[in-house]
Amino acid sequence: MKPIYLDHNATTPVDPRVLEAMLPFFTEDFGNAASRSHVFGWKAEAAVTAARETVAAALGANANEIVFTSGATESINLALLGAARARRSRGTHVVTAATEHKAGLDTCRALESEGFRVTVLAPDSEGRVSAASVEAALEPDTTLVSVMAANNEVGALNPISDIAGLTKARGILFHTDAAQAFGKLPLDVHAWGIDLLSISGHKLYGPKGVGALFVRAQNPRVRLLPLQHGGGHERGMRSGTLDVPGIVGLGAATRIALAERSAETARLTALRDRLLEGLRAGIPDLFVNGPLEDRLPGNLNVGFPGTPADDVMAHMRDVAVSTGSACSSNEPEPSHVLLAMGRSAEEAKASLRFGLGRFTTPEEIERATASVIRAVDSVRTLRKEVGLGP
Ligand SMILES: *Cc1c(COP(=O)(O)O)cnc(C)c1O
Repeated sequence: MKPIYLDHNATTPVDPRVLEAMLPFFTEDFGNAASRSHVFGWKAEAAVTAARETVAAALGANANEIVFTSGATESINLALLGAARARRSRGTHVVTAATEHKAGLDTCRALESEGFRVTVLAPDSEGRVSAASVEAALEPDTTLVSVMAANNEVGALNPISDIAGLTKARGILFHTDAAQAFGKLPLDVHAWGIDLLSISGHKLYGPKGVGALFVRAQNPRVRLLPLQHGGGHERGMRSGTLDVPGIVGLGAATRIALAERSAETARLTALRDRLLEGLRAGIPDLFVNGPLEDRLPGNLNVGFPGTPADDVMAHMRDVAVSTGSACSSNEPEPSHVLLAMGRSAEEAKASLRFGLGRFTTPEEIERATASVIRAVDSVRTLRKEVGLGP
């Protein structure tokens, strides 16, 4: 039987409508968007402009505030390194949170090696970062705050409009990693006072290898030192020939996500609740990681006490889920997000992340529920036989 994909917080398939929009730009409309002297270039540029306007409108931004990149990792690096370096004389203190994606945390580590001081905030037990904790961490030389909009492991939503309000009042820049939130939750950079915002195509049924960074152009005009140098593309902030098919794909993916957002939110939330109910019926001692309200639709993260998630996954080859742990080395570490929320290493290693998506069906949820329950039972039985177990 076809395996069931429930790892949409890691990546999503390209929507066939997105692919269709992209295809002409690989072949007949292959021009370089920077070629000003002929129709091939003009066509490519027009397509990039349309995508830029779509992405900007989805954020409440202006088209000239969108910088296309290779994905959220690059956007986050450009935002944090670029802004901190450009404003070094204004301050060298940066505030972020322990639940951020590695792209944010490791970039902050890099800033530390350049002499910046970084405060890493602890979340609450459900993975949320409060505006009060951000406020308490601000110092006279704080230059930049970076807190994600929605967490990729436990789905927790952060009060980013409140945080932006705090930083704005003090002349501190605010960046948010919206890789998970974009297209799924309302975002309004101008109404909320966000200065920098990162998104990724492949979390949104667009292609991998494309993303964008919103860079505020007014009140204040945010200056970034570029990370790569060259032809001065993207208003000098990101040189390099534009990935026209990818950018067209990101634009199409954005348009579809916005048009379908409210119906899709309701559908995914209902399916997610059904998954949780089903799992609970078969595994009554399971625990939920992250909030039940104010959560990314489609995300569920649950733990099975005394039952290593890697063993559970090994017993259900037909369901694709993940532990959400950082596999940057061969040694699987427990999730830094779950540990920051106060889970023990054992609880973190007993936790599984489910990410439901646009093409997930009720039948798949039924099958996956049965598979997970069967796998947890098998692992528990085996562990009991060898004297382990809860
Ligand atoms: C996926 C993801 C990223 C990285 O995005 P890429 O486009 O794969 O580089 C960063 N932050 C969050 C929250 C993500 O989910």
